Amino acid sequence: MNSDEVIKRIGNLHATDLLPQNVKNWEETRMFLQKIVEILLEYIREENDRSSKILEFHHPAEMLQILDLSIPDKPMTLSELLNCCREVLKLGVKTGHPRFFNQISCGLDLVSMAGEWLTATANTNMFTYEIAPVFILMEQEIMRKMIELIGWSPDEGDGIFTPGGAIANLYAMNAARHHCFPRAKPLGMTSVPTLCAFTSEDSHYSIKGAAAVCGIGADNCFAIRSDAIGRMIPEALEQEIIRCKKDGLHPFFVCATAGNTVYGAFDPLPQIADICVRHGLWFHVDAAWGGGLLLSPEYRHKLAGVERANSVTWNPHKLMGALLQCSACFIRQEGLLFQTNQMSADYLFQQDKPYDVSYDTGDKAMQCGRHNDIFKLWLMWRSKGMEGYRRQINRLMELAEYFTNRIKTTEGYEMVVAKPEFLNICFWYVPESLRLLDPKEKMARLDKVAPKIKAKMMERGTTMVGYQPDKQRPNFFRMIISNQAITHNDLDFLIEEIINLGKNL
Ligand SMILES: *Cc1c(COP(=O)(O)O)cnc(C)c1O
Repeated sequence: MNSDEVIKRIGNLHATDLLPQNVKNWEETRMFLQKIVEILLEYIREENDRSSKILEFHHPAEMLQILDLSIPDKPMTLSELLNCCREVLKLGVKTGHPRFFNQISCGLDLVSMAGEWLTATANTNMFTYEIAPVFILMEQEIMRKMIELIGWSPDEGDGIFTPGGAIANLYAMNAARHHCFPRAKPLGMTSVPTLCAFTSEDSHYSIKGAAAVCGIGADNCFAIRSDAIGRMIPEALEQEIIRCKKDGLHPFFVCATAGNTVYGAFDPLPQIADICVRHGLWFHVDAAWGGGLLLSPEYRHKLAGVERANSVTWNPHKLMGALLQCSACFIRQEGLLFQTNQMSADYLFQQDKPYDVSYDTGDKAMQCGRHNDIFKLWLMWRSKGMEGYRRQINRLMELAEYFTNRIKTTEGYEMVVAKPEFLNICFWYVPESLRLLDPKEKMARLDKVAPKIKAKMMERGTTMVGYQPDKQRPNFFRMIISNQAITHNDLDFLIEEIINLGKNL
């Protein structure tokens, strides 16, 4: 049956004509799903075609004109639903395009995607062994592997997959607070002295957010100065801890970042760990972005000291390329996650079940239901093996070095941080008209350049890269090399494209 015949046969049917209501219409059901798969396959083919556009940019008001998002009174037909799917994909952003460099999580690993399809079909919840036996055991296996890579001993460590790294950081801070002041769980913060936490000024904003949520207060999360390349200055940390103690606050938590979001800098973990030991503080490592480097024997030394952490955040949906979302929080002290979050809901976590109920992970979570984020990671990891990951990550590091050299040697470009440590390359493009200005004037005018180039870039839709300002620096581009599809050619393309777009500024 060709495509037209299929549409003729099923186009005017409705969802209720198919399974699960209408078991006899298996053939029609199969045709509908096959059509959906065809649409997805076509999208994947096009996304990987470098001559295709990454996006068709429209302003929100315009978009609302083009796109009807309303819920109708009457059910839509299958043919209309298929059109909805095409339309949505057409107007979205192709984040897996080899020239999309805009975000830390990009690229579309097809095995991980296949895993997500299976996950969606199995559609189970992760709270008990009872309803997710295979996935629960799989999660344990993968968490053991990740804990081994972190470097904790086999009898240490526990973890949970969370809805993103920001929530993983919240899990860590909450566990730290419970460890120091278990009474806060039943009684709230009135039973606790005024706590304070520390993180670098270049760390992720979710640490401050966690302090707000945990009742510590965002203002009691102190931003520690970092050096010229974005690494926390340990001496500044210790001074701040001592000052806080003098002021009557109770320090309890330090976050070190391994691969920070803007510069990709790695805080000096061993020195920070020493300070935490000296002052009796919880040592958290936010390796949401940098954690993947643990898979590379050549580069894992950048995280040396992570094995001393009390907790670690690691997002497989970033460097490892798992599909969104896939993040984990690891806690070194066995049992602490349970103690922190357990509420013992009788309707889920009966203690007299016929199996070992320690496999019911639900009570480790703040959430009730939890999405299955493990299968897509497990399947993808198996598809690469340890060897494949080592190659993939080393290759990205080489591409970053290549790009850095190109920026350094191409006229008009300037590095923001001369020697990037990781896969973030921050740079300015200085249009010719600005090159001879005095430095102060140049910096002031430079602030407008990246936003203008980015706006033109989005109109053209050929490539995408993010920009941002910083404390003392005007807007700069932040290049991220994390998509395994990227080639040298794609990097050259970006450099040329920015020159073209910035020509007459
Ligand atoms: C991305 C990132 C986060 C937040 O992770 P989400 O999955 O986006 O919530 C936290 N910390 C660091 C260092 C990150 O790069």
